[in-house]
Amino acid sequence: MSATERLYYQDSRLLEFDARVVDLSERDDGAIAVTLDRTAFYPTGGGQPNDTGTLGEARVVDCIDAESDGVLHVIQGPAPQIGDSVHGRVDRQRRLDHLQQHTGQHILSAALVKLFDAPTRSFRMLAHECEIDVALADAADQKIEKAVDLANQIIWEARPIQIMEVSSEAAAALPLRKESAREGELRLIQIEDFDLTPCGGTHARSTGEVGCIAVRSWERAKGLVRIQFMAGGRVLADYRKANATAREVAALFSAGREDSPALLAKLVDENKKLSRRVRELDEIACRVEAEELLRAISPATSESAAAVIVKIFEDRSADSLKHLALALTAHPGVVALLGSRDGAAARLVFARAADAPGDMNALMRQACELIDGRGGGNSALAQGGGKNVNVLEAALAAARQSQGLA
Ligand SMILES: [Zn+2]
Repeated sequence: MSATERLYYQDSRLLEFDARVVDLSERDDGAIAVTLDRTAFYPTGGGQPNDTGTLGEARVVDCIDAESDGVLHVIQGPAPQIGDSVHGRVDRQRRLDHLQQHTGQHILSAALVKLFDAPTRSFRMLAHECEIDVALADAADQKIEKAVDLANQIIWEARPIQIMEVSSEAAAALPLRKESAREGELRLIQIEDFDLTPCGGTHARSTGEVGCIAVRSWERAKGLVRIQFMAGGRVLADYRKANATAREVAALFSAGREDSPALLAKLVDENKKLSRRVRELDEIACRVEAEELLRAISPATSESAAAVIVKIFEDRSADSLKHLALALTAHPGVVALLGSRDGAAARLVFARAADAPGDMNALMRQACELIDGRGGGNSALAQGGGKNVNVLEAALAAARQSQGLA
């Protein structure tokens, strides 16, 4: 016999009640838990989170199902005494939301069974969306949307939802959507001519209260299909968000919402082509830049003289650094030690001509240690990066010094 009479079993619309405090206990974190002789607060269970609200002057922040020890109301604020009469008030918006999601799940799960003989294995109500894991063969958007259509049809028909108390023996003879492991009295939730299933949660009185069901996405997970859906007020909230996003994107193209995916795809494609062209042009520009750098460093020396080019750029891409290093080291005897600062990141490319001395890989490892990063390559070409931008100059100076000893 439960120490707490669960008022939400009979009436999920009951949000205010009076009760007597029968026990007080302390949780591990020091919070006080109040046990009442009766409660309208739903404790976490069956994939549905707990209600919140107030108990007297205190805030009910959690509700725990202690089975035969009743329902524990974890509170913040003034604690009552054992024997006190207290007034409880359940947060309406949260209860309504949970009721819509939970009842919505019954309807969607029943629709999946009706259409595809696909039972739901588990249910989770998350902060934003809900999830069901379904044994659905050959999952596809079309198939899932068909179940969503049926679910919404059932919602818009505003079918009554009844609660029935039967013995587990009697229940065994009924066409239940899912078996219950519970013994003794079973609480069955019946959606008229559509679904009959055992459940201890809070439900709507009519399917119409659920308002609407929408599927956000789905994926295959552990041999099942995980469907992310939402019901009621959450669908409207999500629609507003999705619509705002879609309109923002469309405004960038000065186009309609429906036209933006095609315009965006075109832009991405153009961008790929441009990037390819920019890379080609950068290689050509780097060859010219390399000539100029070499002329500037040793205007008098001949082409074959050994030269170490050390240079730091601002915001130069790794690709472009590499192009320049390769253009420089196409000249005999040249070693290029190049770096770039990009806000909070430093990039390095070290390269040497085939006939120049030195191990670029070893130099890069040493430099990356200084700039707190990673990098490597082979003895002729190495690349790296790190986050200690402030010592980029010092790292290049040290590399130059080591190179001088090579
Ligand atoms: Zn339920």
